[in-house]
Amino acid sequence: MRNKFLSILVSVVAVLLIVSGCSKKNTGENNSNTGNKKIHIVTTTTMLKDLIENIGGDKIEVEGLMGEGVDPHLYKPTASDVEKLKKADVIIYQGLHLEGKMESIFSELKDKKIINASDGISKDKIKLEENGTPDPHIWFDIDIWKEVGDNIQNKLSEFYTDNKDAFKSNYDSYKKELDNLDKYVKMRAEELSKEQRALVTAHDAFSYFANRYGFDVLAIQGVSTEAEATTSDIENLAKEITDRKIKAIFVESSVPEKTIKSLQEAVKSKGHEITIGGELYSDSLGDKANNSETYIKTVKANIDTIVNALK
Ligand SMILES: [Zn+2]
Repeated sequence: MRNKFLSILVSVVAVLLIVSGCSKKNTGENNSNTGNKKIHIVTTTTMLKDLIENIGGDKIEVEGLMGEGVDPHLYKPTASDVEKLKKADVIIYQGLHLEGKMESIFSELKDKKIINASDGISKDKIKLEENGTPDPHIWFDIDIWKEVGDNIQNKLSEFYTDNKDAFKSNYDSYKKELDNLDKYVKMRAEELSKEQRALVTAHDAFSYFANRYGFDVLAIQGVSTEAEATTSDIENLAKEITDRKIKAIFVESSVPEKTIKSLQEAVKSKGHEITIGGELYSDSLGDKANNSETYIKTVKANIDTIVNALK
């Protein structure tokens, strides 16, 4: 009895060994996905992580180095991040100098499979700042974000030819969701008049968004930098807010309360009122607790916050 069991066990093990031997032979070589092992991708921002998951589906696992609320411009990789990057099958970063403090690491790792996600965007779509450097905040223009996805899909398909069809079908269906999202943002924006479509904000993350959906960005001069806003900055902004009857401004906790107070007072002295219109997600996605943990939910939350405050 016991011997019989042992001999069955031995033959089962033998069969398993043969099977696994075969499957190893069938894959390998041309850089394809090996058996059931998922492609391990390490990326930087929450926006990219979400996009890559929607392209790779069950063929990949994605690790994002930056969590919610992390500033990608200032993010310095830790020693354990560097280890993660070295162990990754593929590294995907956004580029356009968004990850300013990580660029030297990416160039050190250039022998790995590494994708600069913004590489394929048509040049005429990239906005340049006054000093000639590209504005990296491309993710809130859904049309440009789709190009970023196309680029990632193409590069991943070159690396893993066996998964080409899966990547294409995953991303084709996600792009339909992105098209619907784009329609939603346009529809909500159109609830506002041209005059009402003004984003008074201290953050520089919204110029692509503004461009696509017909908003003007009115910056609170000096507030987003270390410099203090001057009286004339505040006076000019107060005048424009009053002339356009703008109801709300969007600021983050980093903006000094003093500046907000003096802006509100300057507006009030012209016979108009402004409120703080709630927080917008800028350089990272939101989280589960606020029902904004995906790109689609974050974009919806932003346009809803904007339109509800300005209407
Ligand atoms: Zn930013």
